[in-house]
Amino acid sequence: MHLPDISKADSDDIAAIREAVRALCARFPGEYWRDLDRDKAYPADFVQAMTEGGFLSVLVPTEYGGSGLDLTAAVAILEEVHASGCNGAACHAQMYTMGTLLRHGTEAQKQAYLPGIASGDLRLQAFGVTEPTAGTDTLSIRTTAVRDGDDYVINGQKVWTSRAEYSDLMILLARTTPKDKVEKRTEGLSVFLVDMREASKEALKIQPIETMINHATTEVFFENLRVPAENRLGEEGKGLRYILDGMNAERILIAAECIGDARWFIDKSTNYARDRVVFNRPIGQNQGVQFPIARNYVEYQAARLMVYHAAGQFDAGEPAGEFANMAKLAASEASWHAADTCLQTHGGFGFASEYEIERKFRETRLYQVAPISTNLILSYVAEHVLKLPRSY
Ligand SMILES: Cc1cc2nc3c(=O)[nH]c(=O)nc-3n(C[C@H](O)[C@H](O)[C@H](O)COP(=O)(O)OP(=O)(O)OC[C@H]3O[C@@H](n4cnc5c(N)ncnc54)[C@H](O)[C@@H]3O)c2cc1C
Repeated sequence: MHLPDISKADSDDIAAIREAVRALCARFPGEYWRDLDRDKAYPADFVQAMTEGGFLSVLVPTEYGGSGLDLTAAVAILEEVHASGCNGAACHAQMYTMGTLLRHGTEAQKQAYLPGIASGDLRLQAFGVTEPTAGTDTLSIRTTAVRDGDDYVINGQKVWTSRAEYSDLMILLARTTPKDKVEKRTEGLSVFLVDMREASKEALKIQPIETMINHATTEVFFENLRVPAENRLGEEGKGLRYILDGMNAERILIAAECIGDARWFIDKSTNYARDRVVFNRPIGQNQGVQFPIARNYVEYQAARLMVYHAAGQFDAGEPAGEFANMAKLAASEASWHAADTCLQTHGGFGFASEYEIERKFRETRLYQVAPISTNLILSYVAEHVLKLPRSY
């Protein structure tokens, strides 16, 4: 197996980016996130600062106004955001959702949208795939797009469409050929770039979902929404492939957030275990307290290697599916185990909001479910890597 050079993750250039991200995050301390969490409010100031700092446009090529950096740089940015105690979920999709447009859009579509996305004037951070009845079985989605003259008419419903209220554009997956009329089961779905600013309130309804974390996620209802045919990305009927090939980048970037979280929890646990004195000695002197933290550190370092390995493969244009999936699984488990230890290490104080742990604990749990749940990663590895029979 060819091993990408993961030392780039700690190169001088990337170290400078990390430092700049940490400086930005220092302006958004725990109190800022706590207040937002309590009010279930969007971190508009943080997102603005990330936009102005140029951190959300790193993956947009320079000819469209971005900084044209690679996924390794994007991974480092999100890792530092989370290691600083902040949360990138409010804006991380602005980094990578444009990948579908970049890879499958026409030159005219790219010219029309990418410069605005790069500057932050246009927000493309809504991604409508999941539906209430289909769940992970994407081929069973029911939202339809029917051609009518120069438009498509969209009807149906999405669920868990995050950031839809804070986005101008949405990447939408809809069925253009009925499931029983396609030659190949993976065909018949198409991708659209929906300009939500142009939609009437009757045609596009966005309903926030209250959740255990402050995530700005929603249900979206389409009723005869007209989308110009020129907003279809790529060929009609080939949409599933376009969506799938953007998912490796997404998984690697979410894994980056998880290793950032793991580092944050481990630092927090270590500091507390050193300082907290019970029975006249620091609690961290007890192996029962040390060992879980040490184990978390081992898991974190292993996951971190996998995340940068996956990013290196992606940047080299090599198939990255295996490591993108495995890195996401390993990182989401490392962060969750570190979160659990951190809560336990803090005893009762772990439950007090001012320590930040309970908020991060809730937030990091998401990543074993979204954007893909652990079982589905395991079935990917079983079927595609280990060549076991397909289970569903
Ligand atoms: C906060 C949040 C934000 C999200 N943001 C977005 C977004 O922006 N855009 C978007 O499109 N989606 C989004 N999602 C949806 C997310 O991707 C899905 O929740 C996730 O993929 C799991 O799908 P599901 O909830 O439908 O679970 P289901 O498919 O109903 O599965 C339920 C459980 O059964 C397991 N399971 C199902 N089938 C199998 C099988 N064959 N073998 C073994 N186990 C199986 C799953 O692993 C899971 O644990 C978000 C979800 C959340 C919670």
